[in-house]
Amino acid sequence: MTTATTEAARLFKGTYAEGRSEAELKQLVRHAGAELELAPADVIIEWAVATFGERFAITSSMGDAVLAHLASTVAPGIDVVFLDTGYHFAETIGTRDAVEATLPVNLISITPKQSVAEQDAAYGKDLFARDPDLCCALRKVKPLEEALAGYDAWATGLRRDETHDRVIAPVIGWDDKKRKVKVSPLARWTAEDVDSYIAENKVLVNPLVQDGYPSIGCWPCTRRVAPGEDPRSGRWAGTGKTECGIHQ
Ligand code: SF4
Repeated sequence: MTTATTEAARLFKGTYAEGRSEAELKQLVRHAGAELELAPADVIIEWAVATFGERFAITSSMGDAVLAHLASTVAPGIDVVFLDTGYHFAETIGTRDAVEATLPVNLISITPKQSVAEQDAAYGKDLFARDPDLCCALRKVKPLEEALAGYDAWATGLRRDETHDRVIAPVIGWDDKKRKVKVSPLARWTAEDVDSYIAENKVLVNPLVQDGYPSIGCWPCTRRVAPGEDPRSGRWAGTGKTECGIHQ
């Protein structure tokens, strides 16, 4: 552990219970955004931990544990938020359980207000097939907004090379919907960078990745992709939808 990392871990266990005003958060984004644009991912996480303490959480969809692993080396015990939509593949739930069992993180699994059965009763069966935007709003966007209420900043594993819409994703940005700082430590990483980190650190990967699912979401809205196909093309295939709404 480096000196900077030790300092970040100490600060993580420290104060910041009150949080900052929106104006203060936006000012932090302006300063840190430019300063950290070219910084390595661990330095970006160290900055977030030192700046926000316990009011900083990372999120993971459990396609792999890269961000959780990286964050746990900087700040052991860090909050990792997983959105359990009720529609995940068994392999994704298994990956979540393995992350919780093997990494020094505080895994927080959140669920939508309604179970799948309750949603079926209220909106009709298989809402995902008729109105995936509403289904994502109910099962992803809203629950995550509520789960992040006690934080000033959140981190995501999104990368600029994943989709056209993500090309301009800032490393440190302002999430206008959630009114929080959004940190994307892996924004500048390529798929090759991810593979190297996984190999070098023996990081957990969802077994579905090796089974033709390079991008993994809920099972009704994720299909296998052929070798050479756009890795994200298996998500909401044939619907024109490319994002769940969490990053928009
Ligand atoms: S990805 Fe599909 S099943 Fe999951 S919340 Fe969105 S529409 Fe519903």
